[in-house]
Amino acid sequence: MTTPDLPPGLTAPIPDAEQRTLDACFLGPYGENDALLERLVVEFLRDHVHWRRNFHPEDPPAIPTRASQHPAYQAFEARMRNELHQLSAALKRSVPFHSPRYLGHMVSDLLLPGLAAQILTLPYNPNNVTEDAAPVTLRLEMQAGLQLARMLGWPDDPKRPDCAIGHLTSGGTLANFQSLRLALALKGFPVALLAAGVPDLGLPADDWQAFNLGPAAGIELLGKWRHWLAAQSPEDRTRWRARVQARRIEHLGLHAFFERHPTLRPPVVLAPITAHYSWSKGVKMIGLGRDQLQLIAARGMRLCPEALEQALADCERERLPVLMAVGVLGTTEYGTIDPIAAVVDARARFGARGLGFSIHVDAAWGGYLTTLFRHPDGRLRTLDEVRQDYRQFPMPEVHAAFAALEQVDSVTIDPHKLAYLPYGAGAFVCRDHRAMSLLTEQADYVFDSADSAGDALDHRHFGQFIPEGSKPGAMAAAVYVAHRVLPLDHAHFGLIPRHTVQAAEAFRERAERFVRDMSGRIHALVPFPPDSNLVCLALNPQGNRKLSRANAFLQRLHAQLNSDPDQPIQVKQFFASTTTIRPAVVGARDMQRILEALGIDPATLDPDDGDADRLILLRHTLMNPYLIDHENRISYIDRYFGYLEACIGNC
Ligand SMILES: *Cc1c(COP(=O)(O)O)cnc(C)c1O
Repeated sequence: MTTPDLPPGLTAPIPDAEQRTLDACFLGPYGENDALLERLVVEFLRDHVHWRRNFHPEDPPAIPTRASQHPAYQAFEARMRNELHQLSAALKRSVPFHSPRYLGHMVSDLLLPGLAAQILTLPYNPNNVTEDAAPVTLRLEMQAGLQLARMLGWPDDPKRPDCAIGHLTSGGTLANFQSLRLALALKGFPVALLAAGVPDLGLPADDWQAFNLGPAAGIELLGKWRHWLAAQSPEDRTRWRARVQARRIEHLGLHAFFERHPTLRPPVVLAPITAHYSWSKGVKMIGLGRDQLQLIAARGMRLCPEALEQALADCERERLPVLMAVGVLGTTEYGTIDPIAAVVDARARFGARGLGFSIHVDAAWGGYLTTLFRHPDGRLRTLDEVRQDYRQFPMPEVHAAFAALEQVDSVTIDPHKLAYLPYGAGAFVCRDHRAMSLLTEQADYVFDSADSAGDALDHRHFGQFIPEGSKPGAMAAAVYVAHRVLPLDHAHFGLIPRHTVQAAEAFRERAERFVRDMSGRIHALVPFPPDSNLVCLALNPQGNRKLSRANAFLQRLHAQLNSDPDQPIQVKQFFASTTTIRPAVVGARDMQRILEALGIDPATLDPDDGDADRLILLRHTLMNPYLIDHENRISYIDRYFGYLEACIGNC
C-alpha cells in the first residue's frame, strides 16, 4: 500500500531478505552491529595470540609476567594511554562518513567483512611485495584481481593463456599510472625487436608500424619472441635478450628512444575533459609531460565520440602516435558514464588503418556498479533485466558502456570507493596477463620462460611489476574476503549499489519537488541527468542575474553543509560537497542553457574573473545504504531538502 504523501523512495518496499542481508553488511549509522564486530575482533585477536604461542611453545615468555609492575613499564603505558586518549578525542572531529546525513564525498560506512578481515590480518603484517613476506595474502591479492576480472567479463581461469590479471594499488591514481606504464611498454616493445634485428618473427616493416601495432598484435608478437628465444642456444639467448633489452623504451628513456627513432614522436594520451586529475599526474610521472595529455570534449559530461573521432583523425594525419584512449566509468564530479562502446569502435577502425592504441577505463568510481550488470553465472544482464529495479537507470547508452568493458585493455577500480573498504585500496586489472611481463624489473624473468601461459600470473612475481614496493597484505585480505562474502554480481554485491542508485533516483525526484516548492525564492536545477549515484544541484536566488553573486550564495550555503574543524560535528545537520562547471567542460551551449534556467545572465560569465568563470554547484554522493531508512520510515533525503530550505533562508 502506498501513501500519497510519503517521500520518494519510502513508497517502494524492499524485500525482507534483502534488507536483513544489508543489515549485516555495515557497523551501521548507530553502531548497531557493535557486538558483531567486537566479537569478531576479540575472537581473531585471541586466535592470533594462540598462533604466536603455538609457534614454539617450548620457548619461554621473553617478557616476564612481573614486567607490568615496574615503574618504567607503567610510565610507558601511561604515556601511550595518554597519547591514545588524545588521538581518540581528536578523531571525534572527523567527518561522520558513516551517517546517512553525509552526502558529501565518495565515502560512506565500511563493509564489515572487509574491515574485520583487515583488522584480523594486521597483526600478521604480511607484505605483499613478495611471497617470502606474504605467503598467504599474495595469493589473496591475485584472487581478488581475478574476482574483479570476472566481474568485468574477462577470462579468469589461470589455465587460459589469455587469462586476465589484477593487483591492488594504494588507490586509483596509481592504478591509472600503472595503465600508462603498461601501454607504453607494449607500444615500445615491437620497436625494440625491430631495432635489435630479431629474425623470423615477421616484424612490421618500419618503426611507425611497429609503434602503432596496437595492444593485441603487440601481445601476439611478445609471445612469438618468447617462443623464438626459447629455441635458441643458451649463449644466443643471452646475447639476443641483452640486445633487445638495450633497445627498449624503458631502458633508454624517452629522450634516447625517440632520438634513435626519428620517425616517431612521443605519443599522446586522449582522455575526456571530465577526467580525474590523476591523469595529469600520470603523464607527468611517466615522463611524457602534461602536453601529451589531450583532453577531449564532453557532452552532458560524457566523452563526446565525435570529438574523439576528430582527435584520432588529427593524430593520424599528423602522424602523432596515440598511447591510449581513456574512458571514464563514473566521473568523479558528476558520476557520468563515458560511451565506452564508441571508444572500442573507434579503436577497431583506427587500428585497421594503422593507428593502434590501448583503451583504459578509469572506473575508480563506477567499477563496482558493474555488479548490477552481471548474473551470478557471469553472463551480462540485459537492459530490461537491469531496468526492472529502477525508474530510469540505466540509460541504454550506460548499459552499452558496461557491456563494452569486456573489450577494453585495462581498468582501474577503487575498492576504497564503491566497495566500502578502508582507504589504501585501488586496483589495476589487465585483460591479458601476458602484457604484464613487460613491466618486470628483471628482464631475465620475462625472457627466460617460453611458456607464456601462466608464468606472469605467478603471484610470486607480483613485486616485479607493481608500481609500489612494500604494501599491505591486510588490504588484499580485506578486498578478497569482501568479494567472497558478497560475490561481484547483482544477486550479491549488487544489493548495495542497487540501494544507492535507487536512493539517487529518489533524490532526483525529491529535487524536482524542491525546485517547484522553492520557485518563488530560488531557481534550482539538476543540470544534467545523472548516470549513476552522484547528483548535482545548481541554485540561484530569484532576482539575481549575476554569476558571481550566485556563486557567493552557493558558497555561503555550502558553509552550512561542510565540516568545520573549529566546531563539534554535532552542530552540523547534513554534509554535501561542491563542484563546478565551466564552459570548457560542459560546452558553451549547455553552459548557456544552465545559466538561463537559473535566471543568470550568461554575459556575466567572465573567464578572467575567478569568481565568475564557472558555476559552483552542490554535489551529492548517494552511497549510504540508510539514506532511506525503511525501519523508521525516515527519508534522510527528504530531511536534507527540508534542511536545505532552512539554510537558504539563512543565506
Ligand atoms: C577517485 C578517482 C581517481 C583517483 O583515485 P584515488 O583512489 O583517489 O587515487 C581516479 N579516477 C577517478 C574517476 C576517480 O573517481
